[in-house]
Amino acid sequence: MDPVLIILLCSTGAVLTAPLGLLPLRGERRMPLRRIGWANALAAGFMLGNAVVLAEAGLRYPPLLGAVGALLGIGFTFWTHLASGTADWDLNRLDETPPDYGYKVLLVGTLHAASEGVAIGVAMLVGIPFGILVALTMALHNMPEGTVLGAVLRAKGVAFGHAAGLAAATNVGQIFLAISTYAVISVVPAAFPAANGFAVGALIYLSLSELLPESYRQAGPTGVAVAASVAMGVVVLLKGVAP
Ligand SMILES: [Zn+2]
Repeated sequence: MDPVLIILLCSTGAVLTAPLGLLPLRGERRMPLRRIGWANALAAGFMLGNAVVLAEAGLRYPPLLGAVGALLGIGFTFWTHLASGTADWDLNRLDETPPDYGYKVLLVGTLHAASEGVAIGVAMLVGIPFGILVALTMALHNMPEGTVLGAVLRAKGVAFGHAAGLAAATNVGQIFLAISTYAVISVVPAAFPAANGFAVGALIYLSLSELLPESYRQAGPTGVAVAASVAMGVVVLLKGVAP
C-alpha cells in the first residue's frame, strides 16, 4: 500500500478516537478521573518510548540539527501551554473553570495536534510499522484529551454531538501535518534530523510537563510510574523485534 495512504488512514483513525473519549460522559457529566489518569500514564509511556526510538534514529546524523529541532519542539510545546493559558490547569477542578476555559482547551488541543502530527510523519520515515505504533500512541492519547475537552464543553452547555465534533476537529491538524512532514522529508531528506529532533523534544516535554504530572494526581504516583515505564519499555522492545 502507498505509504501516504497508510499515513492518511492511521492518522485519521487516531483523530477519530477523540470523540470516542466523550462516551464515558454520556450518562453523567462527572469526569472519570482515574481512568483518564491511567490512559495518560500509558500514553506518556508510549510517547517516551517513541521518543527513545526516534532519538536513536537521529544518532546517524550530525547532532546539531537534531538538537536545534529538539529545542524547537520543547519551545513549541511550552508555548502551546503558555498561549492557551492551560499551563496551570487542574483537571480535578474543571467544574469551577472560568467561561473561556472551553476555548483554551480547544486551542491547546489543536496546537498539540500539530507536533503530534510531525511525530507520526517522521516515525513513518523511520519505518512504516513504527509509524503505525506512533499513530496508535496518538490514538490512545487523543481519547482522554477528548474526555477532558468534552467535560469542559458539556459543563458549558454544549450539546453532546457538537462537543464530539469539536473533539475530532481539534485533532484534524494531526492528519495534515503527518502527511506533509512525510511528503516534505521524502523530497528534502536533509530536513529529517531537525524534524525528528522536533518530534523527540515535543514528545518528551509533553509527557513530562503535562501527561505525567496530571496522571500522578489522578491515579497515584507508584502505579503511574510503573505503567509508564513498562509502556515505554514495550515500545522500545517492539521496535527491536520489528524494525
Ligand atoms: Zn495532545
